Amino acid sequence: MRNEVSRRTMLFGHSGLSGQDDVIRPPWSLKRDAFAKKCTGCGECVTACPENILKIDERKLAKVDFSKGECTFCRDCVASCRDGALVMLDPETPWSLSISIEGKCLAMKGIECRACDDQCEPRAIRFRLTAGAVAVPQLDQHQCTGCGACVSVCPSEAIVIKPELNEEGE
Ligand code: SF4
Ligand code: SF4
Ligand code: SF4
Repeated sequence: MRNEVSRRTMLFGHSGLSGQDDVIRPPWSLKRDAFAKKCTGCGECVTACPENILKIDERKLAKVDFSKGECTFCRDCVASCRDGALVMLDPETPWSLSISIEGKCLAMKGIECRACDDQCEPRAIRFRLTAGAVAVPQLDQHQCTGCGACVSVCPSEAIVIKPELNEEGE
């Protein structure tokens, strides 16, 4: 069961981007540069995460790995962080991410697949039925929480979640 977070905050929130390029930092992390200063790479959040989706990267900073599972927004990582790198300024705003489905999606190639549909609790992924053709996934960005549940189940690694790039560094 996932905790409720605002679905719009996935795209329009302001407290989550804290990594470089495509690296996703834990939910409720400080903005990019502030997070890099505060996170000591101690690994407390990695240990605390019941979904095992956190790891310490080569920069000695905590990051999310959706290939391992999904974020349930349980907030255990925030509670575990003693260095002030994860701070719940707004409980409904865990991060600012964007999601896309790339052309290597099996359904888009005409092969029946709905693996992502089955995982998406907020119903952000729906399949458009077309007579005589395989139904293809359609994303509703406003419904997506960025939980990442769809990522690891996709057999073609077609689902990409990234930090929003227009986030300020501090
Ligand atoms: S909120 Fe919970 S599931 Fe999500 S990264 Fe933190 S500890 Fe893991
Ligand atoms: S399963 Fe995927 S599309 Fe659905 S809310 Fe989670 S990240 Fe968004
Ligand atoms: S799970 Fe992946 S391949 Fe299957 S429909 Fe969804 S995006 Fe396409």
